Amino acid sequence: MGLKATLGLTLFAAVLAGATPPILASSWSEAVNPTAGPAQPIGGPANGCIAGAKALPLDGPGYEAIRVSRRRYFGHPGTVAFVERLGRQAKAEGLQTFYVGDMSQPRGGPMSNGHGSHQTGLDVDIWFNLDPKPQLKPVAREDVPLPSMLRLDKQEPDPTRFGAAQIRLLKLAAADPAVDRIFINPALKRALCVSEPNRAWLHRLRPWWGHDEHFHVRLACPPGAASCVSQAPVPPGDGCDASLAWWFEPKPAAPVPAPSTPAKPKARPPLPQACKALEAERS
Ligand SMILES: [Zn+2]
Repeated sequence: MGLKATLGLTLFAAVLAGATPPILASSWSEAVNPTAGPAQPIGGPANGCIAGAKALPLDGPGYEAIRVSRRRYFGHPGTVAFVERLGRQAKAEGLQTFYVGDMSQPRGGPMSNGHGSHQTGLDVDIWFNLDPKPQLKPVAREDVPLPSMLRLDKQEPDPTRFGAAQIRLLKLAAADPAVDRIFINPALKRALCVSEPNRAWLHRLRPWWGHDEHFHVRLACPPGAASCVSQAPVPPGDGCDASLAWWFEPKPAAPVPAPSTPAKPKARPPLPQACKALEAERS
């Protein structure tokens, strides 16, 4: 099958699934280095970029970056500092090393696969696997065990995987002043709503699709970042309410478009103008 036909089918499948269509590798995913100058997140998490990003050191106390061939270990210096801080705190509490997955590309921007957000250097995926880990060089950490924390029915946590250590790590992350919100699987949040005696800290944990193997930390726009667009604030309360129950209600099946009239793929909003200059600058 030719590339065009494959792409056409992929786009069509994405439209059927109601997802944003994938994009081909762009100058954003091909950028090798961040731009110089002060760090500046531009735009929002799903429609932006970052100037002056910093690379996360691939190993640090309490954490290890994985899948480094993807070159998605860049972020705002505040995001790098957050990961390092979480690593130190986790280690001090006797937790095993955690894996750090995707942050942003060297200049942020849209990715050719895998995420709609992570575009402004303020997002980071932290994997729940807190088993003892072998000492591996970063390049040997492309394919490591990243198990789901849920039982096969995806309705409840698997108690052999998701326990006190994972909850402690989540709690440390949620208590960090730089954090705006953390996305976790609805079934994990529901279990915490039941098990946690004091639920105030659950406020920042937001239910979202997937996120049963990792949690996704989104930092708030740093002070003074004039071009950074914040999300609407997390609603008050612990979130153990109807908004969480919604995730477990049966959903009506999505209408299937007639084959003769394929829906047009959703257009992506244009990136902020300030990102254009970053994209054009030579890597
Ligand atoms: Zn993520």
